[in-house]
Amino acid sequence: MNTTEFRKRGKEMIDYVADYIETIEQRSVYPDVQPGYLRSLIPEEVPVEPEMYEDVVKDIERVIMPGVTHWHSPFFYAYFPTASSFPAMLADMLCGAIGCIGFSWGTASEATLMSLLAARSRIVRWIQADNPDRTESEIFSKLVAYSSDQAHSSVERAGLIGGVTMKKVPTDEKFSVQGEALKKMVERDRRAGLIPFYFCATLGTTASCAFDNIIELGPLCNAAKMWMHIDAAYAGSAFICPEFRPLLNGVEFADSFNFNAHKWLLVNFDCSVMWVKERADIIGAFKMDPLYLKHDHQESGLVTDYRHWQIPLGRRFRSLKLWFVFRLYGLRGLQDHIRKQVLLAKEFEKMVRDDQRFEICAEVILGLVCFRLKGSNELNETLLKRINSTRKIHMVPCQLSGKFVLRFAVCARTTELHHVRESWAHITDLASELLQELPH
Ligand code: PLP
Repeated sequence: MNTTEFRKRGKEMIDYVADYIETIEQRSVYPDVQPGYLRSLIPEEVPVEPEMYEDVVKDIERVIMPGVTHWHSPFFYAYFPTASSFPAMLADMLCGAIGCIGFSWGTASEATLMSLLAARSRIVRWIQADNPDRTESEIFSKLVAYSSDQAHSSVERAGLIGGVTMKKVPTDEKFSVQGEALKKMVERDRRAGLIPFYFCATLGTTASCAFDNIIELGPLCNAAKMWMHIDAAYAGSAFICPEFRPLLNGVEFADSFNFNAHKWLLVNFDCSVMWVKERADIIGAFKMDPLYLKHDHQESGLVTDYRHWQIPLGRRFRSLKLWFVFRLYGLRGLQDHIRKQVLLAKEFEKMVRDDQRFEICAEVILGLVCFRLKGSNELNETLLKRINSTRKIHMVPCQLSGKFVLRFAVCARTTELHHVRESWAHITDLASELLQELPH
C-alpha cells in the first residue's frame, strides 16, 4: 500500500469507527454465535496471493463483528467467540505457513518466562508424584535452567523472575550451542545434586543470528526430562520460506517455541507468537477460575482461554493485524519480503568482503551482517561512534569472541539496494577518514 492509499484507507477507517460508535445501540450487547462459527468463514491457510483491501475490510462486519461484545464497559471479563477462536485460527494459519502446529500470543520475553514457569511447575509435579514428602521450596532451590551464552538478556531475566539459577552454555566458533556442551553441564550439575529442568535454545541470536543445534539438543533435553524452549524472536519469520525451513529442523523435540511476527513479518509492534506442545503444561501452571471469569463454554473443549497462558488477563486483538497482513501481502508477498532482505544483506556482505580493510565476523544467514575493521576494538568503537553521530544510518554493536563488532541489519520494509549501497559508501568514507588519522 503506498502512502496515497494509506491516507485514504486511514480516513475510511476513522469513519468506520465513528459510525460504529454512533450506531452501537443497534447492535446486540453480547454475541449470539457459537464457538467454531469462524471455521466456515475463514480459510485454513494463509492465502498465497494478495487480496484486495476492500475485500479484507468487508470481512470485519461479516466475520469479526458477529463474535464480539458491543458495549463501553471496561469492567467485564468474559469469553466471547472471536477473542478466543480467531487468534487460534490465525495461529494455525501461521503454523501452516512455517510448517509447525498450534500457537498462542504474547512477547518473546513473556513467552520465555511463561515457558520457564510452566517447566518449573511440571518438574515439581513430576518429582512430587514419586516423592510426596519433598516440598516445593526445597525442589525450587535445586532447579537449574540453561541457555546459550549468546541468548537474549530476556532469558536471563526469566531466570531471575522465576527464582531459578540460569547457567550459560558455552558456544562453538559459530556462536552455536552443541549437544556435548549442554550434556557436560547437565551431568556435572546432576552429580552435584541439582535438578536440571529447562533449556532455552536460540534460533537466530541477537548478536550474530547464530542457530543452536536443536537436532542434537532436543533429544538430549527429552531424555533428561528437561523442557526445551526455542526463542526464534527474529529468525522465526524466515521459516515461511521453504529454503530456510531446514534451520527449524529439530523443533519437533521442543516443548515450546516463539517468534516475533512484529520483527520481520510486516506486522506492527507488538505481535509475538508462542506454540506449546502440551497446553495442559502451561494452563496447569497458571489457571485461576474466579466466578466473574466463568463462562458457559469453558469445559467444552471448543475454545482456548488464553488468559490461562499469560500474566495479564486482558488481551489486545493482535490476530486481527496478522489477518490483514496475511491477506494484503499473501504468502508469496511475505516470502518475497524476507528473500529480498536476505539478498540485500548478502549484497552488503559482498561489499564488505571486497574491501580488504574489513572482515566479516559471523556467517551471514538472514538479514544481519556482522563486520568490523581489521584492527583494535578502540578503532571499531570510534568508527561506530562516528557513523551513529552523523545520523544517516544507525547501527548497534555486539561483542563476538572478545571483539567489538558492528551489525548491519536489513529489516525495514522500505529498504532498497540503493540504501544499502549508500550506507556502505558512507561507512567506507568515515573509515577512510579514520584510518588516515592513524599514525603510519
Ligand atoms: N529474543 C531475541 C533473540 C531477541 O532478539 C529479542 C529482541 O530483540 C527478544 C528475545 C526480546 O523480544 P521482545 O521484545 O518481544 O520481548
